[in-house]
Amino acid sequence: MCQPDTGTLTLATQRFTVNIIFLLLLLSGARRTKKTWPVSFPQEELKKRLTPAQYHVTQERGTESAFTGGLTLNKDEGTYTCVVCSTPLFSSDTKFDSGSGWPSFFDLMKEESITVTDDFSYGMHRVEATCSQCGAHLGHLFEDGPRPTGKRYCINSASLGFQAKDATSSTSEGGAAGSSASDGKTEL
Ligand SMILES: [Zn+2]
Repeated sequence: MCQPDTGTLTLATQRFTVNIIFLLLLLSGARRTKKTWPVSFPQEELKKRLTPAQYHVTQERGTESAFTGGLTLNKDEGTYTCVVCSTPLFSSDTKFDSGSGWPSFFDLMKEESITVTDDFSYGMHRVEATCSQCGAHLGHLFEDGPRPTGKRYCINSASLGFQAKDATSSTSEGGAAGSSASDGKTEL
């Protein structure tokens, strides 16, 4: 009488434990693959707002053909932003001509603005660069850049927006400079 009872009991406990482990594995797996970003946009909105190339690169981790991007040869002074969420990513001060056919930068405006992860697609090991705010795919990071960082952020034009320096400084500097100057005088 006793034996079959304990038998079914342990079997039930075992099954329960296995279920729990399976559930935990599922949860941890889901957390790793489905990383959530601070900012997210409905895919429908992005399809309307972005060009097909911008959508393909940023949302489907695509790569534009070399030398086809509009910002590859851009030498104007200004700030390069994420085309999806407008976060400032690169300054024109760190852009250099790598000859690769994609906009290349040797440094970031803010270390935390880009998230880097291992990318093993196409049988290669590369380091993928992603916008830390919205998760947009930007390009890849290589360690063969110029001094002082030695880094080469190889970024698709299609994932970037550009704010020319003249356009931003004329609007923001006027008000800020005026108020800070008068503040300085009264305080000192
Ligand atoms: Zn973004």
